[in-house]
Amino acid sequence: MTLIQVSHCASCHSIACPPQPNCQVCGQRDQSELVALPSEGTLYTFTVIHAAPPGVPTPYAIGCADFSEECRLFGRITEVDHLRVGMLVQLVFHEGQPTFQPIVNHGAKI
Ligand SMILES: [Zn+2]
Repeated sequence: MTLIQVSHCASCHSIACPPQPNCQVCGQRDQSELVALPSEGTLYTFTVIHAAPPGVPTPYAIGCADFSEECRLFGRITEVDHLRVGMLVQLVFHEGQPTFQPIVNHGAKI
């Protein structure tokens, strides 16, 4: 379950992330409602870090994932192997931070 809310415009159905009281697309005022961000997204880009400051375990992966056309989030990825741009990821929270759990093979997580 995702804990991120975005605003949805009742007039043009666009989504704003972070939430906005007035629609940034059609200009409607006070027509937005808070809705939950979809918990599944698509990995847009990523990198695997192999060199980090002392005390930071490596390797680890970070990336950006799209959860709607208007909402791209940055976060850590729970895996470093078998990552590919365009793969499905599940939005989870690890230590309060957005984290992406790769989804492969019809919903089975790696
Ligand atoms: Zn609108």
